[in-house]
Amino acid sequence: MPVKKPLPGDLEPIETASRDEISALQLERLKWSVRHTYDNVEPYRQKCIAKGVHPDDLQRLEDLAKFPFMTKTDLRDHYPFGLFAVPRNKLARLHASSGTTGKPVVVGYTKNDLDHWANVVARSLRASGLRPGDMVHNAYGYGMFTGGLGAHYGIERAGCIAVPMSGGQTEKQVQQIMDFKPDAIMVTPSYSLVIAEEFERLGISPEEISLKVGIFGAEPWGQGMRAEIERKLGIDAIDIYGLTEVMGPGVANECIETKDGPVIWEDHFYPEIIDPETGEVLPDGEEGELVFTSLTKEAFPVIRYRTRDLTRLLPPTARAFRRIDKITGRSDDMLIIRGVNVFPTQIEEQILRDPRLSGNYQVVVTRDGHLDNLEVRCELQSAQSSALTPEQVQAVGKELQHRIKTIIGVTTRVTVMEFDSIPRTQVGKARRVLDERPKQQ
Ligand code: ADP
Repeated sequence: MPVKKPLPGDLEPIETASRDEISALQLERLKWSVRHTYDNVEPYRQKCIAKGVHPDDLQRLEDLAKFPFMTKTDLRDHYPFGLFAVPRNKLARLHASSGTTGKPVVVGYTKNDLDHWANVVARSLRASGLRPGDMVHNAYGYGMFTGGLGAHYGIERAGCIAVPMSGGQTEKQVQQIMDFKPDAIMVTPSYSLVIAEEFERLGISPEEISLKVGIFGAEPWGQGMRAEIERKLGIDAIDIYGLTEVMGPGVANECIETKDGPVIWEDHFYPEIIDPETGEVLPDGEEGELVFTSLTKEAFPVIRYRTRDLTRLLPPTARAFRRIDKITGRSDDMLIIRGVNVFPTQIEEQILRDPRLSGNYQVVVTRDGHLDNLEVRCELQSAQSSALTPEQVQAVGKELQHRIKTIIGVTTRVTVMEFDSIPRTQVGKARRVLDERPKQQ
């Protein structure tokens, strides 16, 4: 398929602005954002006071390095609304993502925030080659996750036709794609391959599928996976990046003409790369942890939010903004299983709720075809080991599996073992996660 190059008028002026213009806009917005947060988010003000910094200290972009970080723990500690910077009656929507324990991370948006979000997602769609009138099959999950609705309003804002399919029901996905003939699909990369396999099973070849473009994100995927998706669906596969705390999908998006890493919409999100150990800012090109500061958000501003995603900043190519390289890993233990964020501590919490189980456990991640599988190995308390019948042991596993599915949202295989079956670590941290998935390339 010939790649659609952006036409004059397709791009917003800032997308082709000079670095000076971008920096000037960023500085102006950064000053506003830091002051807005300082004035309205008490826990952040306290952090600044403890570090001896004040919004007046922000005179150049580099001065941001003096300010304290925000982390997922801050969000958890102030659950649900403690970091919001506007009164409740100014909110227009809430979303949530997994926290490091049972409590999710809750974020809020004002009407203006939703407008900016729809705009950057619409921009992401244009960068992916879509134009008004194109039909987009949206298979990101609708609900508290930012994926479904985030993509949805961007599709509408871009003047495209939204098909709010949501996730699951693979056969129906395929049927609908054949019947409606959408131009594009938005979905996690792993699920796109499940859909592709269903096409294959039905003997439908890529040429018979109307899709031209797919916009994939919410989980890491490599060039190998890109090639496979493109071949199986006969499309251009484009990378979209985002996270709930910073806004949702559409913080960065690849351009179809280059496909060289998501372009960060730097007029709304200011990126830094830091050394995850020391917190030191690293120069562009060096790999470290990605940190974002929101420049326009009203309800839930973030200043130096540590994403825990490991990557590097790349120079501008198709647009005036910098890009991110593929996410190579995380600096915490969060797992992304079929697009769902899972922390081992969340699983631990569910195990500990059952007095019949010892707190010792292991989480094993494997890949079966394209989809990740999660096995939870846990063990009975010593006293229980001999007393329970095999049926009772099975029931313990079933209950745990059900709780994990209901509360964390991920399907697991639970193996309940005898006491002392899981190796204990003698030194240092227990090895809770065995990630046996092949490495992304
Ligand atoms: P999402 O709905 O995008 O999954 P979450 O807040 O639930 O939002 O998860 C965000 C995390 O998902 C990111 O911090 C990152 O680890 C991962 N992620 C999102 N998009 C991508 C992408 N395109 N490539 C790699 N990882 C991604």
